[in-house]
Formats: sequence, C-alpha cells, structure tokens
Amino acid sequence: MAPSLTNETTGPHYRPAWAEVDLEAVRHNTAVLAARAAPAHLMAVVKADGYGHGAVAVALAALESGATWLGVALVEEGIELREAGIEGPILLLSEPPPDAADVVVGTALTPVVYTRRFIDALAKAAADAGRVEPFPVHLKVDTGMHRVGCDPAEAPDLARAVRRHDELALEGLLTHLAAADDPAEADYTAAQLTRFEAVRRELARARIRPALLHAANSAGLLSGAPACFSLVRCGIALYGIPPGPALEGAADLRPALSLRARVAAVRRLPAGERISYGLRYHLESDSTVAVVPMGYADGVARRLGEAGAQVLIGGRRRPMAGVVTMDQLMVDLGSDTCEPGDEVVLVGRQGDEEITASEWAQLLSTIPYEVCCSIGPRVPRRYRG
Ligand SMILES: *Cc1c(COP(=O)(O)O)cnc(C)c1O
Repeated sequence: MAPSLTNETTGPHYRPAWAEVDLEAVRHNTAVLAARAAPAHLMAVVKADGYGHGAVAVALAALESGATWLGVALVEEGIELREAGIEGPILLLSEPPPDAADVVVGTALTPVVYTRRFIDALAKAAADAGRVEPFPVHLKVDTGMHRVGCDPAEAPDLARAVRRHDELALEGLLTHLAAADDPAEADYTAAQLTRFEAVRRELARARIRPALLHAANSAGLLSGAPACFSLVRCGIALYGIPPGPALEGAADLRPALSLRARVAAVRRLPAGERISYGLRYHLESDSTVAVVPMGYADGVARRLGEAGAQVLIGGRRRPMAGVVTMDQLMVDLGSDTCEPGDEVVLVGRQGDEEITASEWAQLLSTIPYEVCCSIGPRVPRRYRG
C-alpha cells in the first residue's frame, strides 16, 4: 500500500474553526535540520499526533525532505504510521508494557529498551514470530534526565543480555538531554554527554559497538552542543517552533501550524458592560465585541483571556475579552468593526502581524510544546502544500 493522506481530518465540519498545517513549512524545516545534523541522520519525532499537527501528514512530509527515521511515544502511534503505509524505521521512544512485545515485533517498530523484563519479552516475541533476521533494539541510558533509561552502571549487563538473545540485535545506544535548551545548564548537558561517552567506551571494551548513537533533541541540535553522533531526534523544531527562548533564531525555521476561525457574531456594547463568565472584563468605552467559535475544549486555554492574549482580525492585534469559554471566546475591537465571517487568527500570521505558539506559552507560563499538543481533536486540520 502506498503511503496515503486525506486532505482533511475525517468527517464533515460546519463550524468555521480549524488548524491549518503548512506541509511546505515542515519540508523546509526538515531540510534545514537535516543539513544542520549532517552527517548524522535526522529522526522526525511525530509523537502526540505530530505535536498536534497530524502524525501521518508530518511524517510523510519529513520523509520526503531529509528525515530517515520517525520517532513515536506509543505503540498505538507507530501502528497508525504503519497503517498509513509508512515502511521505514520507527523508534518507539520508551518501553511499552511487556505484553505489547508481540505487536512491536509484528509491526516492526524499533523499541528503546532498558529493562531485563522487556528485553526478554521481546526476544520471546521475536522467536515466536519466527524471524530470520535479528530484531533491532536501542538501549537507553539515563545520564541525568531521570525519567526512563537504565543506570549507566547497568548498561553493560543489559547490552550483554541483548547479545545473548540471538533473536535480538543491539542497533543503537541513546540518552536524552534534560536541559539542552538552557544555556545556564550547558555544563549539565556536557556532563550528560560525558557519561554517555563513558558508557559507549565501556561497551566497546566488551566488543559491543551499536551502529547508531544518539542523544540530541531539537535543543541539542540547535544549541550547538556536541551531541549529534549518528542520529538526531527532532520534534519541536520540525514544526518550526524554537525549543526555548534562548534558541529563538538559532535556525531559519517556519511555524507550520496556524489556528484560525471566522467571526461568528458581532455585538455593539455600551461602555461599562462586563463580558464573559465571572464578568471580569470591563468595557471602558462603547465597543464592538466579536464572538469567535473556538474555546478551551479546542485547546485555547481558559486563562488566555485574562493573561492578556490577543488575536488578529483585519491584520491587527485585538485583545481577548474575558475568560475563554468552552466553545467560544470574545474579542474587543474597541471603536473598530468587523463582520461575521471575517477571518480570525489565534496563532499564526495575518497581514504583517504574527502570534506564535511561544507567545501563548509565555502568557500561560508553559512551553510551546504544550500549546500545540493541546489543540484538540475537535479542531479539523487542513493541510496546505
Ligand atoms: C519528544 C522526544 C524528543 C524530541 O524532542 P524535541 O524537544 O521536541 O525535539 C527526542 N527524544 C525523546 C526521547 C523524546 O521523548
């Protein structure tokens, strides 16, 4: 089956509210990152439905323009890519429960491993599947992130456990950087890489030499830390979003996603009126208020209004008025007007103005990753390019 993609998420949509995903931007970003990573290969990390952009669409665009690997968090996400006809290597970034080993082997996902229990389950699944070639796995070492991965001291034993199973092959060795986006933690990142290198040397002494070494995420690549090895795992940068404030402008990236809607209703309200639940937004003067058909159930955080967020209407920034409600939000146009049906940009460009996911992240005291992952399944994705 050829890889396939329908042009819009399924089902009819009547509400004029959507996320536009520019696949040309994804291709551009992929090419920029692949060039930066070379001679290391580029993995496009498309977990969490491609950070809200649509995993299959982004995966296909990235594979067309320089990525050679894909990365996912869940077996379910790997299956979605396989069902779309994608055949290349897909790294499963964390161990699933051992009872998922059969499906990992069956769908030829490349698992990250770090426990004896899962390694043994995989070997059994590979044997049961009657594979001819050994099944490739990557061993993950925790060098300081303290999330998943084995202790560096355990790595040789686990590598030997993989080697003892004829059904398995240790193709890769990896770690994950905890703070590569933060220049104040550059020493910590360097220490993580030193620990990683020590594990590599220790394995080499046991004549275990995995072909692929990898440590860098987007920040590891863009910060210039010597973390590229043979493979770089990029998520956020692929979508055109800098991993953190210190890396704004570190590469020529284009945001791929914009969040758009059309004005649903326009009201003219007198000075002194108060708007939305809790009546916490006061009109200082007679004003036009536009109603936008998107709310916190779509991923537009409720507190954005009170945090001072703006939207673009008619090419200008306008403040959200009051708290965002579940399905709708209000915008204060002051003495200006607009019409029902006018385009509203919540994130993205309109005319000369642009609102980025990073701007929302700052208002919400979070990171842009959370902003794009929050855009819910109720919002149809429209693909361009
Ligand atoms: C999510 C993830 C990445 C990608 O991180 P970005 O910061 O989005 O580039 C890389 N490696 C692992 C293990 C991850 O979980």
